[in-house]
Amino acid sequence: MTHLIDGTAIAAKGLAAVAAAAATLRENGVEPTLAVVQPTANRSGAVHVDAIREAAEQAGVALRVHELSGPRPGEIEDQLAALSGDPDVHGIVCQTPLPHGVRLVDVAVRIDPAKDVDGANPLSLGRLVCGLPAYPPSAAAAVLEVLRHERVPLEGRRAVVVGRSLVAGRPAALLLLAEHATVTVCHSRTADLPAACREADVLVVATGRPGLVGADHVRDGAVVIDVGANPGPDGRLTGDVDTEAAGRHAERITPVPGGVGPVTTIVLLRHTVAAAGGTFE
Ligand code: NAP
Repeated sequence: MTHLIDGTAIAAKGLAAVAAAAATLRENGVEPTLAVVQPTANRSGAVHVDAIREAAEQAGVALRVHELSGPRPGEIEDQLAALSGDPDVHGIVCQTPLPHGVRLVDVAVRIDPAKDVDGANPLSLGRLVCGLPAYPPSAAAAVLEVLRHERVPLEGRRAVVVGRSLVAGRPAALLLLAEHATVTVCHSRTADLPAACREADVLVVATGRPGLVGADHVRDGAVVIDVGANPGPDGRLTGDVDTEAAGRHAERITPVPGGVGPVTTIVLLRHTVAAAGGTFE
């Protein structure tokens, strides 16, 4: 029987460390502050911001949300640039989805890399490619945090990442590569996706396609990390993996909800506290 990885428990541990570092900053007169720019009124974006708000309150991180409904051309960039120049703001996130035709990679150039706590600026992504210090996208960092917490060996192991977006699949692949895994990246044009996935000791799925990965995609004993967070009509989140079917073969698997999502939120807050000068053991 598969073991369900408890992302909520991993996040709770992380939260305690973030709260301690934030408290030290406050004692020294610094209020760690995260600014989220929300360019569209979208349900999945709003769910994400609500999760950040709740965790930020618990961690002692101040949160500013800037809602721009129907922004004029250039308004998102102007807002990001203004926040980059604001000495009271330490971390900046540009929430997706963006208005039609606007790409995150184009607007995120206006986020100061020192405040780019969700790794959206191409400069941060480029530094990640080069193995230089940068904040990786928090969802990708959360994948590695879950694997580390579960003590899943990566060196020399086969990792398959399904999805190549700049916010999830691609940076997760880079971070796995940095841990010396042998990494394959799959996407919508991959031929025979189930066969490619069955190569994996560690299978990471970030496609936004609910239930895409099932029993046929998982080799016996694999570890499956589901990054998907797809809100259904009732508001409940489902993942990109059919947990029940994949769990027939997986040794361990992250559920949705309660897997990668809560860890992602804590990683974002940790990056913010670090950007404010906070330190972690
Ligand atoms: P995205 O930008 O739409 O990218 C989806 C990726 O999946 C693309 O690379 C696409 O391939 C690939 N794909 C789509 N259909 C496929 C198929 N049938 N077979 C193989 N590959 C397929 O999505 P995203 O922003 O990366 O988000 C992916 C999921 O992660 C979503 O559910 C999102 O909500 C979730 N997410 C969760 C967190 C978290 O905190 N847990 C954070 C960020 C994202 P092509 O490149 O060929 O189009």
